[in-house]
Amino acid sequence: MSELALFGGRKAKGKPFPVWPQYDEGERRALQEVLESRVWWRTPGTQTLEFEKAFASYHGARHGIAVTNGTAALEVAMAALGIGQGDEVIVPNFTFVATASAVLFANALPVLVDVDPESYCIDPTLVEKAITPRTKAIIAVHMGGHPADLDRLQALAKRHSIHLVEDSSHAHGSEWQGRKIGTFGTAATFSFQASKLMTAGEGGIIISNDDAFERQARSVHDCGRMPGEWFYSHFIYGSNYRLSEWQGAVLRVQLSRLEEQTRHRHHNGRLLDELLRKIPGITPQKCDPRCTRNSQYAYIFHVDGKHFAGISTENFIAAMNAEGIPNQASYPPLHELDCFRNGEYRKRLSVGQASEPHPFLQQSFPHTQRAAWETVWIPQFALLGDEEDMHEIAAAIAKIQRNATDIAAQASKATPERVAR
Ligand SMILES: *Cc1c(COP(=O)(O)O)cnc(C)c1O
Repeated sequence: MSELALFGGRKAKGKPFPVWPQYDEGERRALQEVLESRVWWRTPGTQTLEFEKAFASYHGARHGIAVTNGTAALEVAMAALGIGQGDEVIVPNFTFVATASAVLFANALPVLVDVDPESYCIDPTLVEKAITPRTKAIIAVHMGGHPADLDRLQALAKRHSIHLVEDSSHAHGSEWQGRKIGTFGTAATFSFQASKLMTAGEGGIIISNDDAFERQARSVHDCGRMPGEWFYSHFIYGSNYRLSEWQGAVLRVQLSRLEEQTRHRHHNGRLLDELLRKIPGITPQKCDPRCTRNSQYAYIFHVDGKHFAGISTENFIAAMNAEGIPNQASYPPLHELDCFRNGEYRKRLSVGQASEPHPFLQQSFPHTQRAAWETVWIPQFALLGDEEDMHEIAAAIAKIQRNATDIAAQASKATPERVAR
């Protein structure tokens, strides 16, 4: 019978990968301190405040505003930039829904553009073509930890007097030309959800070097209050997006590991580049020479089924999982989501904008399609393993290739679902 673990063979992966999330006595002590201090609320507390300062400063930013999650971070950023009815914000079609839904939440139109075929980040040439007099901002996503082309995006934003927002939910600690991501535009947002590079289960932050933006964002996140004013005065639209002291305390400890972990993941990512490039039909996400550090939220590679007996990506992933290599699902193209297909998104727009045709939704987005359905994502915690683990990943994929005809022969049977992240 087959050598593949999928069909009862021996697993390619011997020892287990590191577990995620990681914690030690640091988190335990921090949580106990908050508990015993009886200050669990952010407003009089010090934990979240200190975390904001430390996280912002690590990324070279003057300001940090911690919020409940990464989606909220984008929503607060949109509100603080004054984005609203009639406005357009350019976002990549290949990303988590929050990048676009935060624009809809602001009652503005997310204009979807295709990504670069090699980096899977928003394509600056297409961004430029999509700019109209209504465009107020671009949201770039640093896909899998790899920075979008910040040189070109920054120049575009400047030339057209629009805002650049870095959705950095995948990229804590990543670098572009030796400088941390997060300060190339007006603001950057991060998530601390469980799968992200540091976590408190949920959480998010906005960082910025723009004092006026910071003032607005801090107010939006705290019910429209202004610093130094009476507690029950509310000056602008706002809501309660504050992060609790529990999470602030945990994140301070998580941040203390980020530098070392990022270095480690980047190193293993480059080793995997080398190993996987040797396998016909496998193309790792391009690491631009200007990406001096990739935090590797995921290690992303394209699989050309032709070199694997024509098997589907789903079947490739099932075989890989059976060999002991974890994966997380890639994103579907946003324009194919129900909320765009069924017109629900129009309910968020101004009457005028809602009745317009939005022809961009009829495009084919070839690079997003390829990224969505033909790439495989190895989650960040696997890259916290050692070099032997990386060699075992490569060996598992080579083994799948050698035995791909066995999978193809079985393919008429039930297709396994992708594992959700
Ligand atoms: C995770 C993520 C978000 C949202 O973060 P949550 O904390 O889950 O709300 C936004 N954008 C991208 C690209 C993400 O991966």
